[in-house]
Amino acid sequence: MVIVMAAAATQADIEAVTSHIEVHGGQAFVSRGITRTIIGVVGTEAVLETLDVAGMTGVLDTKRITAAYKLVAAENHTKRSTVRVGGVPIGPDTFTFIAGPCAVESPDQAMESALMAKRAGATLLRGGAYKPRSSPYAFQGLAGAGLKILAEVRQETGLPFVTEVLDVNDVDLVAEYADMLQIGTRNMQNFGLLQAVGSVGKPIMIKRGLSATYEEWLMAAEYVAQRGNLDIVLCERGIRSFEPTIRNLLDVSAVPMMQLLSHLPIIVDPSHSAGRRDLVVPLARAGIAAGADGVMVDVHPHPEQALVDGAQALHGASLDELADIVMTLPALLGRTSAAYQAG
Ligand code: PEP
Ligand code: MN
Repeated sequence: MVIVMAAAATQADIEAVTSHIEVHGGQAFVSRGITRTIIGVVGTEAVLETLDVAGMTGVLDTKRITAAYKLVAAENHTKRSTVRVGGVPIGPDTFTFIAGPCAVESPDQAMESALMAKRAGATLLRGGAYKPRSSPYAFQGLAGAGLKILAEVRQETGLPFVTEVLDVNDVDLVAEYADMLQIGTRNMQNFGLLQAVGSVGKPIMIKRGLSATYEEWLMAAEYVAQRGNLDIVLCERGIRSFEPTIRNLLDVSAVPMMQLLSHLPIIVDPSHSAGRRDLVVPLARAGIAAGADGVMVDVHPHPEQALVDGAQALHGASLDELADIVMTLPALLGRTSAAYQAG
């Protein structure tokens, strides 16, 4: 069951409802979104039967949710949610362009990449300080030093940034710096990590697992929501397929399906789908046409020297081409470009 609280509900109203639930033997999980607060109730059928919250002050509505994921389900939402990342909205009315290097390699490389991203129209920066690598011998990222570089680049460019956190032990440090924390593909079902990031009070991007079903993906989001954080952005980044030519298969169907199943925004990452530069622009176009709320791509000033994923990094003409598409195609679909908005 979920209880939807009115926008004007006070902290005391919320506490009165949660203690009513607890007194009757249920558990209450409070999730605060931008426009309203939702209280998820977990308990046996008998417990749910005994609750009588409909008349309590501040309660707007109560709903039984049939989906396995309760807080992120579309079922009790009349409109899809907008998540604000350092003042930049990601949601149904806007289109958000996120770009940056796969990995932060040095202050100069990060700054040059951010300026390329900004010139191309991006309003959010991406960049990995902690890198999940298949090989333990490959570059693992600059860790804390990378976070500091990203913060300096944000200071210079004004671009808020998203960066991945790999380990529960690093969550607090990453949350101190980042505007949005990324849960990578390989950690989509790291439930301890999902719970930890759910408690830090920053937006969370959850990339789809390599072979995750839609329900598994949304249950990952539910772990974050259940800890009180509804500011979650889903990212389709391609799934494993039998075709070796492309790195992963961008599941374009995931965009409209997630919008049917959930109220959360969904963006696409054509870079990690394709694994090769010449496919990134067509896949971005496909994702935007399918209705994605944003796109996230890798850029690099010198892809041939990149320590990670140079083959898929946009630069020069390929980035110009994407910049053109991002400026024109979302507008044709009724979206405005997501620029920084105070408040
Ligand atoms: C990334 O975005 O840098 C990344 C490692 O992506 P994924 O988890 O999708 O492989
Ligand atoms: Mn990468």
